[in-house]
Amino acid sequence: MTILRTILWFVFAIVAMLGAVWLAERPGSVTAEFRGWRLDTSVGVLMISVLVLILVSVGGWLLYRWIVGAPGAMLEGWGESRRRRGYRELTQGLAAVAAGDGVEAQKHARKAEQLLSEPALTLLLSAQAAQLNGDRDGARRAFTAMLDDEQMAFLGLRGLIGQSLRDGDQAQALAHAERAFRLRPQTPWVVHSLFDMQAQVGQWRAAQETLETGIRRKVVTADKGRTLKALLEVERSREAEREGRPSDALALARDAFALAPERIAVTRRLAELQLTAGDPKKAMKTIERGWALAPHPDLASLYLDASGETEALKRVGVVRRLAGLNPSDIESHLALAQASLDAGLWGEARRHLDSAAGSNPSTRVCRLMAEVEEREQTGPDKVRAWLSRAADAPADRAWRCNACGAHHEGWRPVCESCGAFGTLQWRAPGTYGQILPPDDTAVNKTTMQLSPSLPPP
Ligand SMILES: [Zn+2]
Repeated sequence: MTILRTILWFVFAIVAMLGAVWLAERPGSVTAEFRGWRLDTSVGVLMISVLVLILVSVGGWLLYRWIVGAPGAMLEGWGESRRRRGYRELTQGLAAVAAGDGVEAQKHARKAEQLLSEPALTLLLSAQAAQLNGDRDGARRAFTAMLDDEQMAFLGLRGLIGQSLRDGDQAQALAHAERAFRLRPQTPWVVHSLFDMQAQVGQWRAAQETLETGIRRKVVTADKGRTLKALLEVERSREAEREGRPSDALALARDAFALAPERIAVTRRLAELQLTAGDPKKAMKTIERGWALAPHPDLASLYLDASGETEALKRVGVVRRLAGLNPSDIESHLALAQASLDAGLWGEARRHLDSAAGSNPSTRVCRLMAEVEEREQTGPDKVRAWLSRAADAPADRAWRCNACGAHHEGWRPVCESCGAFGTLQWRAPGTYGQILPPDDTAVNKTTMQLSPSLPPP
């Protein structure tokens, strides 16, 4: 390139020199007259003057271009460096968030906000920084501002849901979750948290619709969906009964039992309604089917009620029939022990308690043993020994939440501790029910996090 240009210059210089020599060898004069002015010169001088004029004009034009264009170019360079500094602040801010340093993050967020004209990015950083610093209003403001940006709206809603839950504003959290669900009904956390929130406020029908969308979009497995639907129908059945629609209540309970006879709450609901409807035979059939899958003391006492038997010895026979459907389960032994005890059959009661005890008798077994000793009048020492053993005995089956492990006195559809729906199981601590695995997908109050990649605290 440079060589070519040098050669061209060289050729141009030779041509110009030859031209000048040619002109000098051929002198000729030019005369111009204008309003009394007169110009006498040679052709050579005139031609050189024209050349100089052209060169000056070109130089002038280039100078003008440089002067006019410079501020723009300078501004552009300045803007570029501003953007670069802005992104650097943003990166440092995000690093501070990841390191859990809220003060540092907020400092960088403020700088990035001044330098960058990308509110969506800086808002996210500001929101996270505010959250780390415990600045609720700041976080809410940033999350709310994110709603205006189409791409950030979903993230903003997630932040607002977590914020509302922490503030204990359930209605607001539900409204945000509904909006998030409309935006992205295929996102698992949206489906799970909206479902739980609707269940928490008793919107059973709406919860069922959410569940059905979740099953359709494969966010909820078919098996889990089936159980949850059954438990929702149990609640809808209670609602129908309260509203004076007994036939609807019964139909819903029957539907639920067809879906999940392995859930104690479902079996119990249908049996109770059948008993209320004056059909104890059907109620007993329902309990027998449920007992074979999942026995529970409430089902045993309901079975005795349905049998209409009042004589203690005959009641033992009734319980024996039920226990025979699931003979190895501890609940069968305990139910038979209790019935035998009530009938004064001490030996029978001891035999069943022995079977229930295994190598390490639980609290319930120890208490019943103490009762046997007391009623048989074998002496206060034996009673006391069993009672003190009961205090240290391993815990019995109880209603425990599969999501958070909380213990509840009785069955309830929503866990009072973590707000998850349908997670209570009749089980011993440390063992999960055979029916549902531990629920790791439910979004609860404490694990709500803005950033899905950050582990819950
Ligand atoms: Zn729970």
